[in-house]
Amino acid sequence: MTFTRRATVAVPVGKVTIGGGRTIVVQSMITEETRNVDACVRQILALHDVGCEIVRITTPTMAEARCLEEIRAKVREAGAEVPLVADVHHQGSPIAVEVAKHVDKVRINPGLFVFRKRVQRTVEYSPQEHAEELAAIEQELVPVIDACKENDTAMRIGVNHGSLAERMLVTHGDTPEGMVESALEYIRICEKHDFRRIIVSLKASRVPIMLAANRLFSSKSDYPLHLGVTEAGDGDYARVKSTAGIGTLLAEGIGDTIRVSLAEDPINEIPVCYDILQALGIRRSKTEFIACPSCGRTKFDLPTVFAKVKSATGHLSGLDIAVMGCIVNGPGEMADADYGYVGQAGGKIALYRKHEVVKNNIPQENGVQELIALLKADGAWIEPS
Ligand code: SF4
Repeated sequence: MTFTRRATVAVPVGKVTIGGGRTIVVQSMITEETRNVDACVRQILALHDVGCEIVRITTPTMAEARCLEEIRAKVREAGAEVPLVADVHHQGSPIAVEVAKHVDKVRINPGLFVFRKRVQRTVEYSPQEHAEELAAIEQELVPVIDACKENDTAMRIGVNHGSLAERMLVTHGDTPEGMVESALEYIRICEKHDFRRIIVSLKASRVPIMLAANRLFSSKSDYPLHLGVTEAGDGDYARVKSTAGIGTLLAEGIGDTIRVSLAEDPINEIPVCYDILQALGIRRSKTEFIACPSCGRTKFDLPTVFAKVKSATGHLSGLDIAVMGCIVNGPGEMADADYGYVGQAGGKIALYRKHEVVKNNIPQENGVQELIALLKADGAWIEPS
């Protein structure tokens, strides 16, 4: 079973296409200082090596922006075609114009792009004030649009719940509606100037807000969405939080590219992305394991046996392998797994192919080797690299 994905327009970002029904793209962001070119190149290549398909780099000032040409040249020299994205923040127009020449996508934040210091205003903006602000945004955005058009560079309109412009806060409150409107008013300016190479993100550190904003946006627009729970933290809870946000939307067919934001080495983000995609059956990058939780009927030390089976067969992508503690319920519970490793009385195990018993009464110490032999006989085995 697969999820029906929301139809979005296809947006090329270098060699990768986001949206338009393409594979959901995994991305991350480096943490090295952008002026430290060689360290950035090393981290980009390391991320690329573990499967990161788009890499983002921060460019807070023009000095960092000017480093991107060299970073890209060195990454390409090393043979990596991974698309690069520049992250632009406060008063970003001149920086975005510069980086658009050197990267495949420019990320701008509507809350900061034309920056107005917050003054805790409570009086609503008049129509004229709105119009003046929009004119100021257009004036700053048009040179970026032109630079993106000239260089075939995409733009991410990256809204963050925590950095909405005060005009949005006064008009819409601290809400998903304010986040969506922040993106839509930038989109309207882009479309007015015939630019549609756009990807949108609506990130929040609170999962319910991130969910609501992305659902609302996807009901109003068909630009592809970059999903992420921002400032998720580290460890197990950050992974759970990211999965709750990203996975929920993907299961609803929303989302075209994902980033798990961890306060850890960005290398750690990539397996989490792939695990979310694998758990949802969207992308398979490794064996899918099924294991019962074990109970009083379990005929072996399930965690130990499961670890051995995973270690021996985890590299086989595209297979479902079940490890079940007893023959009473195990074969039924493992449903449609391709292969089953099931505990029997007397320290033995049985091997299944789908629902068929292939071999009974295998001594437990030979179980993993017998499973590998079965996979080899079926042509399903690949030697680990
Ligand atoms: S499959 Fe058997 S051992 Fe595993 S939880 Fe179910 S009843 Fe217990």
